[in-house]
Amino acid sequence: MRCLLCHKTLNLDDPEPVVLAYSRTCRSCLDSIQPYPLYPRLFESCSVPLSAVDYRGQGGQIVRDLKFHGKRRLLGLWVYLLSQAYARSLEVHPPGQDRYSPIVVPVPPSQYGLWYRGWDPVAKGAQQFALCHGFEIGFPIKRCSGSSQKLLSRKQRMDGSIVFQMRSAQGIPHTCTEVVLIDDVVTTGATMGQITRLITSEYPVSVRCISIAQD
Ligand SMILES: [Zn+2]
Repeated sequence: MRCLLCHKTLNLDDPEPVVLAYSRTCRSCLDSIQPYPLYPRLFESCSVPLSAVDYRGQGGQIVRDLKFHGKRRLLGLWVYLLSQAYARSLEVHPPGQDRYSPIVVPVPPSQYGLWYRGWDPVAKGAQQFALCHGFEIGFPIKRCSGSSQKLLSRKQRMDGSIVFQMRSAQGIPHTCTEVVLIDDVVTTGATMGQITRLITSEYPVSVRCISIAQD
């Protein structure tokens, strides 16, 4: 059996290998994943600053391999990175209430991404993340525009060319005080910012933005 990242042979009797569901890696690969500093530019658009790992290192490689090279076994590592980013965000911004029961919300995929991959890694990752932490998951947001973000310029993204809407039938429970918004890669933060504004304009909640990687 080999490490999914560096392909060195793992000895499973060794205490070193790390086994996360079906994602097996060696300890040095896992330790090489660097967290990204909390991203100041997003502080205004998200009610709780974003937490992510650095896209230039192993974290980005994991995202690219799973998203573009179809390595679905990396989903365990993906969930691990989400959990790391989440834990880091809790340290900086504790929830600050006695009964903390957030709802996990994945950023909806583009039509192009769904068509290209045939599945939605962000939703799958968010589902497993929610299961691991005992949180509820919800899908209250839909994407109105069918265009992929890849086809838009940076300016168009900042202008808010992508439009999201709340699904009227699937709101956020009234008992919920925090939304944990999940995405895979954050570049400008425009998507996270738009969704945060949409949610906070309709619900008295804070939005904690967690992304696997910061590009
Ligand atoms: Zn390795």
